[in-house]
Amino acid sequence: MAIVGRPNVGKSTLFNQIGKKRVSIVEDMPGVTRDRIYLDAEWLNHEFTMIDTGGIQIETDDRMLTAIRHQAQLAIEEADVILFIVDGKTGLTSADEEVGGILRNTRKPVVLTVNKVDSAKAMDEIYEFYNLGLGEPIPISASNALNLGDLLDKVVESLPKEHESDGEIDQIRVAVIGRPNVGKSSLVNALIGQERVIVSDIPGTTRDAIDTHFSKEGTNFVLIDTAGMRRKAKIDLPVERYSVIRSLRSVDRSDVVLIVIDAVDGVTEQDKKIAGYAHEAGKGIVIIVNKWDLVEKDSKTSLRFTETIRNELGFMQYAPVLFTSALTKQRIHRVIELIKFAAEQHAMRISTSVLNQVISDATAINPPPSENGRRLKIYFTTQADVKPPTFIFFVNDPEIMHFSYLRFLENRLRESFGFEGTPLKLVVRGRK
Ligand code: GDP
Ligand code: GDP
Repeated sequence: MAIVGRPNVGKSTLFNQIGKKRVSIVEDMPGVTRDRIYLDAEWLNHEFTMIDTGGIQIETDDRMLTAIRHQAQLAIEEADVILFIVDGKTGLTSADEEVGGILRNTRKPVVLTVNKVDSAKAMDEIYEFYNLGLGEPIPISASNALNLGDLLDKVVESLPKEHESDGEIDQIRVAVIGRPNVGKSSLVNALIGQERVIVSDIPGTTRDAIDTHFSKEGTNFVLIDTAGMRRKAKIDLPVERYSVIRSLRSVDRSDVVLIVIDAVDGVTEQDKKIAGYAHEAGKGIVIIVNKWDLVEKDSKTSLRFTETIRNELGFMQYAPVLFTSALTKQRIHRVIELIKFAAEQHAMRISTSVLNQVISDATAINPPPSENGRRLKIYFTTQADVKPPTFIFFVNDPEIMHFSYLRFLENRLRESFGFEGTPLKLVVRGRK
């Protein structure tokens, strides 16, 4: 669930109110910018993660609108349910209408709530918000904790059914990145050559116009920022830097990143940089070595090439490597399979009991390190999130957790559960 709304409508107050009673873990995830705060909350046995997209400092109306649009977009991309808060005291504003317009056009459920309805008398103020066309507004008072139960009921009701968001994946967003001329456009064309391309034209989401949608065997794929690629501009923008920035933006919006490497040139510095960014961003990853038809091969060639990639991209040993030719269509059908596989691994959730069993077995085999006579103790481990799978280790003293031990634990997790094609985030927390 993400909370969206203008500054001062009471987002933080609500966030803290819900958190106060039911928070299990307050998580400030590494790599997450400051204006997004993640909070795990629980209501009627439903766990959900709230993203407070607020906290943006705004000086002018213009900048506020830009910030709010950005915020709404982020919420649409990241959340299962969007909680849109408006202010019953100030009434409907043009910024509310702007956000309402964006939210009306998503397929994600939106719960409209009117805050600062502190008394029964104030109830009269909520009617104008029907004009937003987002259904019945739910009146609450965040600071007085009024009606929060009804609100959360509504949110839980709107959440996708259990497991739907984890195991089953309804849409996989794929970024295709790599240097100019490695064959990205050819690959994209080969991928969708046989598939029906769904031309979506959702107003309000201009970004959709540059994405390519298609579905295969019940799975919907979105190839990010590729529509232009398919048409392949005649005038290739020579600016390398521009293409890098563009790639990074596509990575941000993706679930799975296809890193396309030229079989002749091998891994370049730019490949390394973008791969590193995708890894840090916690995306599912598949490495494609394209133009394989141009390579003189013997029985060991692909093995040697894989080894080189493992050396050059040492931080992503988990990523599957596939050798393709967009020209001869060699192994093109495997690309989709691997994307789907990586997406599933990326969204995989391990139950707490099984997880703690694996960690306890691991610590039995290889006891945790100690420092100055104090031994690290892992009390409890939980998987706090998916995409990427994020594990929190609650320990007696995070200082004693060495990098090498963390790597050992990561390896054990991978041996037990796979997690092929996805980075893992391991977070160590001390207990106060
Ligand atoms: P945010 O910018 O959306 O995060 O808004 P805040 O949570 O910081 O709240 C802005 C102001 O509205 C603060 O002064 C809050 O005390 C006030 N506020 C929040 N909820 C309520 C409410 O239910 N009733 C009233 N009267 N004031 C509220
Ligand atoms: P992009 O800039 O990464 O989108 O690369 P393109 O798809 O435009 O491909 C650049 C050039 O490489 C074109 O001339 C393609 O025909 C060629 N090409 C793409 N894939 C392959 C392949 O698998 N084998 C060979 N031999 N050529 C390829």
